[in-house]
Amino acid sequence: MKRKEIVLIVVILLVFLVILGVVAFYFLQKPKVVFSEGPVSVEVNTEVQYEIPKVMYHGKDISNSVRVIKGIDTSKLGLYEVQYEFQYLFWKETYTQTYEVVDTTGPQIVLNGGDFIKQSYTVTYEEPGFTATDNYDGDLTSKVTVQKIPVNTMQDTYRYSCIDTSGNQTIVERTVQRIDDVPPVITLNSESDIIMLRQGEKFEDKGATATDEIDGDLSKQIQTRGEVDTSTPGDYVITYRVTDKSGNTAEKSLTVTVLSRQTSDTGNTNAGTSGTIYLTFDDGPSKDITPKLLDVLQQKNVKATFFILNYDTSKEYLVKRIVNEGHSIAIHGYSHDYQKIYASEEAYMENIESMRQKIYATTGINTYLTRFPGGSSNEVSSFNPGIMTRLTRLVVGKGYHYFDWNVSSGDAGDTTSKEGVFQNVTTALRKNRANVVLMHDKAGNTYTLDAIADIIDYGRQNGYSFEKITMSTPMVTHHVAN
Ligand code: ZN
Repeated sequence: MKRKEIVLIVVILLVFLVILGVVAFYFLQKPKVVFSEGPVSVEVNTEVQYEIPKVMYHGKDISNSVRVIKGIDTSKLGLYEVQYEFQYLFWKETYTQTYEVVDTTGPQIVLNGGDFIKQSYTVTYEEPGFTATDNYDGDLTSKVTVQKIPVNTMQDTYRYSCIDTSGNQTIVERTVQRIDDVPPVITLNSESDIIMLRQGEKFEDKGATATDEIDGDLSKQIQTRGEVDTSTPGDYVITYRVTDKSGNTAEKSLTVTVLSRQTSDTGNTNAGTSGTIYLTFDDGPSKDITPKLLDVLQQKNVKATFFILNYDTSKEYLVKRIVNEGHSIAIHGYSHDYQKIYASEEAYMENIESMRQKIYATTGINTYLTRFPGGSSNEVSSFNPGIMTRLTRLVVGKGYHYFDWNVSSGDAGDTTSKEGVFQNVTTALRKNRANVVLMHDKAGNTYTLDAIADIIDYGRQNGYSFEKITMSTPMVTHHVAN
């Protein structure tokens, strides 16, 4: 071989070796890996996002050649070794990374009824309940502590606190706001809410006081409406009105009844339509007299007025019959016992109010017609001085019309015959007035029962007309003697 040829072969060999070296150098270079060894924190019970190692090979990201071959269980706290395997071309590697499953989340407290409660101050606050649930420990409701923090007289804060086994604390608060939804209380300075004055008497407004549980004394804020004209008979209403800071309004009324002289205790036995006869029967109903009496009245087509006493259920049909046959039902009283009923104004009002309610329950009629047992002129009440003066005003003030009589049959006294009753009634009738005839349909009173047809006939023959008492009938009243 020539020397020149040998040099050429050596050069070619050298070039080949260089190329081989360069190629080998290129391919044998390890991929570059970037990852942290950890520990990487993962919240318990969450889906883990593995921090896949980043692998670069000659500037190319080949991380997607990495797969997890040993993962973690995020449902349990603790340290885990995660293993990755990387495989690319002829490269194969495993990497280990430390993970820690931790609980950094506090329990969740749920307040039944929400975090703001508004309620009346009159209502006692009762804890509406709550639940506490932890992502790791589960139900921690029993571990919740509740602390009451007063803010002011109308507000409290309740603080609910709960710590899980990893020491995470949750605090929530509930505000309980008390509201004033109760109106103030107005108290009249006069003894009663009904005042009775006689025409021309002076009215002095004593005013009222008002107190509110929350705002205290509101008397100065009371607004008064209404006027009383004592020169004109009638009912006048004075209204006291006050509103508390929370907008609750209270109102109280004082009724001032200015009595005309006609309805005052001077008595009026000449009222009403001339030539009218009002037959009135007291102290019933009775099983022996009342049904027969009703029969006679029906035959004669006369409407009368029954001032009744308390009755048991066996007599209810009679009370209904009185109403159904067109007569006036009226109140004598629950009891006729003078000592009881004239003991006080309260006792008397109870005596007629309970009867009014009973009659209403039986008949559906709400009657305000009444007659005082013994009449308004009675002296049997003298054990309680002045009671009749007070009661005659009071019942009228309460809306009742009371009737005495100007013709007495005497059938509750000495008269015990049909003739006697007839005589007493017919001789007392007067043409120039309304005649209110006092009779009784109590048990055993046959003389009135027997006389009634003749009295009606007498009245008709002598030009009288028979009427029943109604609320538009002018009151016929005695002179009050007590
Ligand atoms: Zn009586």
